[in-house]
Amino acid sequence: MYKGTSASAGIGIGKAVIVKEEKLVITRKAVSDTAAEIRRFKGALEKTIKDTERIAEDLAARVGEKEAEIMKGHMMLLSDPMLTGEIEGSIQNEGINSEIAVENVCSMYADMFASMGDELMQQRATDMRDLKTRLQKTLMGIQSVDISSLPKGSVIVAEDLTPSMTAGINPDNVTGIVTELGGRTSHSAILARALEIPAVVAVTAFLSEAKDGDDIVLDGSTGEIYLNPEPAVKEEYQHKKNQFMAEKKELEQYIGKPSVTKDGVKVEIVANIGKPEDVDKVLRYDGEGIGLFRTEFLFMDRTAAPTEEEQYEAYKQVAIAMKGKPVIIRTLDIGGDKEIPYLGLEKDENPFLGYRAIRFCLDRQEDIYKPQLRALLRASAYGNIRIMVPLVTCIEEYRQAKALVEELKAELDSKGIAYKRDIQVGIMVETAAASLIADLFAKEVDFFSIGTNDLTQYTMSVDRGNKKVSYLYSTFNPAVLRSIRHIIASGREAGIMVGMCGEAASDPMMIPLLLAFGLNEFSMSASAILKVRKMVTEYSLAELRSVADKAMTFATAAEVESYMKAFVEKVKF
Ligand code: PEP
Ligand code: MG
Repeated sequence: MYKGTSASAGIGIGKAVIVKEEKLVITRKAVSDTAAEIRRFKGALEKTIKDTERIAEDLAARVGEKEAEIMKGHMMLLSDPMLTGEIEGSIQNEGINSEIAVENVCSMYADMFASMGDELMQQRATDMRDLKTRLQKTLMGIQSVDISSLPKGSVIVAEDLTPSMTAGINPDNVTGIVTELGGRTSHSAILARALEIPAVVAVTAFLSEAKDGDDIVLDGSTGEIYLNPEPAVKEEYQHKKNQFMAEKKELEQYIGKPSVTKDGVKVEIVANIGKPEDVDKVLRYDGEGIGLFRTEFLFMDRTAAPTEEEQYEAYKQVAIAMKGKPVIIRTLDIGGDKEIPYLGLEKDENPFLGYRAIRFCLDRQEDIYKPQLRALLRASAYGNIRIMVPLVTCIEEYRQAKALVEELKAELDSKGIAYKRDIQVGIMVETAAASLIADLFAKEVDFFSIGTNDLTQYTMSVDRGNKKVSYLYSTFNPAVLRSIRHIIASGREAGIMVGMCGEAASDPMMIPLLLAFGLNEFSMSASAILKVRKMVTEYSLAELRSVADKAMTFATAAEVESYMKAFVEKVKF
C-alpha cells in the first residue's frame, strides 16, 4: 500500500495511464534577423494566449468560474509586458532563437518563485514552467499530451499535472488521479475536487513502480493507494465506492429542502470558508449562509498584509455571491497555531494563552484592525455581513471592538460611504471565561458562535495540537458539554442567535445534543451540509430532549460517547 496526501474525496478503481510529458530538447541557435524572430515569438505568444482563452472558457462552462481563474492567471502572465519584453529583449540583444530566450527568462522567474518557499509561490513556479513549455511547444509545432480522450476507467498517474493538462480531463473517463508532487492546495488538487475526481497527491516513488495498464485502487479521503491489489482488496473498495456514490446521490435530494426537525423546529446549516472562492462549493451544497469566514487565510501566503481595498473586494465578493444570506466574517484570528511571519509576532512561551486574535488586533488598531473593520463595513453595503470577534475573554474586549465599529461607522457617514447600518457584531464563545459569563455577554452582543475547537482546548487545559495529551481533548467531556449547554441557554434566554462553528457542529454524535440544547445555527465544511440536513430532518426535538437529559447524567466523555453512538446507530446514519 502506498500513502499520499488526500486531495479529492472518493474511491477510484481503474487502470493506470502513465502521463509523461516528453522532455523538450531546446537548442540554442544564433539568429541574424532578430526582427523576424521576434515576429515568430509574437505569433506563438498570440496562439498560446488564444489556446489558453479557449481552455479557460471550456473550464468556465464545464467546471466553474473559479477554476477558469487558474487559466485566466496564465493569460495574465502571458500578457505581462515585463515578461514578454524581457524575452523579446533577449532575442534582440543576444541574437538567439525564441525557444532558448523563453527557456532562459521563464526559468529565471520560475526558480525565483520556487526559492520563495511558500506554497503559493511554488504554485506560481509550476504555472510559469507550464507556460514556458506551452510556449516552446507552440514555437516548435509540437502537440501537447492530450488527456481529454482517455478510455473509460483511467487512473491518471503522473509526476505532476500541469493546470492546462488537468483542465482537459473528462471526468466521465477518469476515475482517479495519482501524482508524485503537489499538495492539497495545488491547482491540480483544486481542479480534481471541482471535477469530483478522487485524487491522491504527493505519493513518493510511485511512478517508478506503476506501469501503463496496472490495476489501481485509490481512496481520495484517506490518501491510500493499492497497486495491483488482491481481488479481496478490490472488492472491498468497490463496495466502499458503491456506498460513497449511493450516499452522495441520496444526499442530493436534500438540496433546496429546509433544515427542519420532524416536529417543525427550523435550524440553519451554514458553512465555514477561508477564501472567497470557497463560496462556489457552499452554493453547490446549498449552504444557508456562511457561519465562519476565517479571514486569516487572506493574510497568509504573502509578504505583507492585504490592504483595506483587497479585503473589501474579498468580503464584497462573498456578500454578493451569498445574495442576502447571512455571512459571518471573523476578524483576524492569528497567533497560537496560526503564524504570519510579516506581522512580526514574537514566539510566545504559551502561544495559545498569549498575544493573539482580538488581543493582537486591539493592540494594532491603526495598521491592522481598523482597515479590516472598515473593509467589512464598506462591504456590508452589498449583503448580509455580520462581524464576529474571536477569542474574547472579557466584556471590555467586546466593548472596545464595538466602539471601533461605531467610530468607523461615523467616519464612513462623514464621507457619505454606504454600509449596513444595523450590522450585527457578535462574538465567538471559545474560552472558558466567555462561557462562564455568557449570560452577561448575551445582554450586549448580537450573536454567539461557539468555537468548540478552542472551547475544548481551554476548558480541558489541553493543547489542541499536542498528540501526547490528545486523549483529554474531547468535546464530549461533561465539562465541555455543560459549558456548551450553558452558552446556548444564555443566548437563547437573551433572545440572540446561537451558532456553532467548531468541528463539533458536524459531528453526527453531537448533533442530537446540540439540537436538544437549542442551537440555532450549525456551521461546517460545505461538503458536510447535506448529510447534517438529512440528520436534522430525521429527528424530533421532543425525543432528543430525553436523550440529552440522559447523556448529561454521565460522568465521563467515554460514557457519553458510547451512549450517543448507540443512539445514532439505532437511528441508522
Ligand atoms: C474554533 O475554535 O472552534 C473555531 C471554529 O476556530 P478555529 O478552529 O479557527 O480556531
Ligand atoms: Mg478558535
